[in-house]
Amino acid sequence: MIKSVLWANMLDYPGHVSTSLFFDGCNMDCEFCQNKLLAKEKTIDFDTEILPKLLERKEMVEYVVLSGGECTIAKECQRVIDVLHRNGFKIGLHTNGYYPEFLEKNISKISYIGMDIKNSFENYDDISGVEIDVEKIKKSIDIIINNLKDYEFRTTVYPKYIDTEDCEQIAKYLGEKNAKIYVLQQYKMVNGVNVIPFSKEKLENIRDLCNKYVKTNLRGIKD
Ligand code: SF4
Repeated sequence: MIKSVLWANMLDYPGHVSTSLFFDGCNMDCEFCQNKLLAKEKTIDFDTEILPKLLERKEMVEYVVLSGGECTIAKECQRVIDVLHRNGFKIGLHTNGYYPEFLEKNISKISYIGMDIKNSFENYDDISGVEIDVEKIKKSIDIIINNLKDYEFRTTVYPKYIDTEDCEQIAKYLGEKNAKIYVLQQYKMVNGVNVIPFSKEKLENIRDLCNKYVKTNLRGIKD
């Protein structure tokens, strides 16, 4: 269900004006998740509260980005994609990459995907809080690289479970796949989680290391 809308921003599809729709629910259970509180929000009806306003603003909004939670598990997500596509909107998607079948089915309707890679493949379960079949993550990476011009892979560097070697392994894997871009995001402290983010300097060092394999940027850095 859609629980929040950000009508105009340039972050969710970097460099483009987009409206973002946030669906609640996720198959993973990351400790540092900022979006778990979405479940408590009131549902916003797509047909009556969102679509009419999007149509009114069509000239101003380049993209509609579906985010979450993990939007691909939301019942309504497929229909929202179909309706947006039918109405000529360009669509972006944020995902944790666990549903490659969904991506494969919809990739022709999607212009941009931002996909989280939570950790190096051998350490995935700790950070996601559930048992993960990393082959699904790898399949999604392939689908994205092989079908889209615009995408990013990103990792929130959560110091409790991720260190330099993990980011380096991810960057190496992406480099071997000829991925265009990898983004390291600084973890932001959330209530009830007593983990200190890595410093700007440490993240810059990790970035420099990753840059040997794949173009790597930093995002959301505070000293
Ligand atoms: S995958 Fe994203 S939305 Fe899901 S629990 Fe982790 S941080 Fe939250």
